[in-house]
Amino acid sequence: MDGFLQGRSALVTGSTSGIGLAIARLLASAGTKLAVHGLGAEDQIAAAVADVRAEGHGEVRHFGGDLREAAAIERLMGDVADWTGGIDILVNNAGIQHTAPLADMPPDKWDAILAINLSSAFHTMRHALPSMASRGYGRVINVASVHGLVASKEKSPYVASKFGLVGMSKVAALEYAAQGSRDSGGITVNCICPGWVETPLIEPQIEAHRSGGRREDGVRALLAEKQPSLRMSLPDEIAALAVFLCRREAHNLTGSAIPVDGGWTAQ
Ligand code: NAD
Repeated sequence: MDGFLQGRSALVTGSTSGIGLAIARLLASAGTKLAVHGLGAEDQIAAAVADVRAEGHGEVRHFGGDLREAAAIERLMGDVADWTGGIDILVNNAGIQHTAPLADMPPDKWDAILAINLSSAFHTMRHALPSMASRGYGRVINVASVHGLVASKEKSPYVASKFGLVGMSKVAALEYAAQGSRDSGGITVNCICPGWVETPLIEPQIEAHRSGGRREDGVRALLAEKQPSLRMSLPDEIAALAVFLCRREAHNLTGSAIPVDGGWTAQ
C-alpha cells in the first residue's frame, strides 16, 4: 500500500476482530497513526495490536471502552483525540447481532444492539466531526450492512440500527459537505453495506443453517438464501473500499450507502 495517509490518524471501533481489524491493518499500512478499539481477552487485544503494528508505519495503541455507555465513549473520544491531536478518519465498525422473531426478542438485546450499532456512532461523530471540519479533511466510514438497505426476518433491532445508521450518515454528510476543498480532501460521511462476510459475528447463523451437516453446508445455505454471487466477502475486501474512501479524489463521494453484497440488494 502506498503511504498516502502518512501524517493522518484513525480510530476504528471494534478493531480487535473481523472487519474492523482488517480495516485497521490496511489504514495502518497506508500510513495512519492507528487507534485500535474493542473488547476482548487481553491476549486477543495484544494479538490485534501486534497485527496492526506489523502492517503499519506509524504508532498503534489500543483503547478500551464499552460502547453501550455514553460516558465510556466520551472518555474514549477524549483519550484518542489527546493521543492523535485530532482524529482524521473515524470508522464506526463495532457491532453485534442477535436473531429472534420480534415478539421473542429480549428487550435487553434491543437496547444493546441499538446502543452499540447506532447510538455509539452518534456519540463518536458528535465529537470527531467539528475538528475534522477545522482541518478541512475528514472521513467518517460507518460499517452498516445490507440490512441498512433491506430487511430480513428475525433481525428487528439489527435492521432498525443499520437503517438508522444509514439515515444518520446522510444527515452528517449534508451538514459537512461544503467544508474543506478539493485540495484538502473535504469531509465525507459514507456507509459500507456488506452482505455476508467471513467473521466471528456470523458463526451462530452458519451454525443454525448447518442442519447437522458440515460448516461449509451452513455457509452454502446462508449464501443460497440471499447472496447471488454465492461467495462470502473477506474482511480485507471491505477494508480495501474503506481505504479508497479516504483518498483525496473521493472528496465528492459522500452521503452514500455502498453495497458490497454479491447482488443481494439488486434483486
Ligand atoms: P466481529 O464480531 O468479528 O467484531 C465485532 C467488534 O465489535 C469486536 O472488535 C468487538 O470487540 C466490538 N464490540 C462488540 N461489542 C462491543 C461493545 N459493547 N463495546 C465495544 N466494542 C464492542 O464482527 P464483524 O463481523 O467484523 O462486524 C463488524 C461490523 O460489520 C458490525 O457493525 C457488523 O454489523 C457489520 N457487518 C458484518 C457482516 C458480516 O457478515 N460479518 C455483514 C454486514 C455488516
